[in-house]
Amino acid sequence: MKHGRYDPARDVLRRYDNEPIGGGNPYCACVGCGKSEPDINMRISGHSSGCHEVARIETEHALYDVRSQVLELLAQLSDEQAEAFLEEVDRLCGRDKYDEGYVATELALQEMNTLFMMVKAEVEASSGPPTP
Ligand SMILES: [Zn+2]
Repeated sequence: MKHGRYDPARDVLRRYDNEPIGGGNPYCACVGCGKSEPDINMRISGHSSGCHEVARIETEHALYDVRSQVLELLAQLSDEQAEAFLEEVDRLCGRDKYDEGYVATELALQEMNTLFMMVKAEVEASSGPPTP
C-alpha cells in the first residue's frame, strides 16, 4: 500500500481560503485576514497576526506530521493488523487534502495523537518487549 508523502513546502501555504477582492482588483484575498495574494506571497508571515486561516494551516501541518509518524509505525505491522488503523487515519484526514472528508481540526489532531499512541502500543506488543 502506498501513501503519498505530505509536502508542506509545496502546497500548504497556498491552502488558505480566499475570495476575489473585486472592484477591478484582479487578486484574491485571504478570508481570515483580508491580506491580498501578493501581500501574502505564500508566506505564513504574510498574513495578519491572529488570522484564523493561519491557525487552520498550522493545525494541518501538525495533523499531517503525526499522520506521517502513524503511517511509519503501521508499516511495521502486518496488513491485517494495520487495516483498522488505516481506516481511522483516512477518517481523520483523508488520503489527501482534496478528499471530501478532509478536515484539519483541533479534534482531528487530538484523535490522531491518540491513534499514534494506540499504534505505538500495538507495534510494541507485536514485537515483544521494547528494546532500550
Ligand atoms: Zn490570512
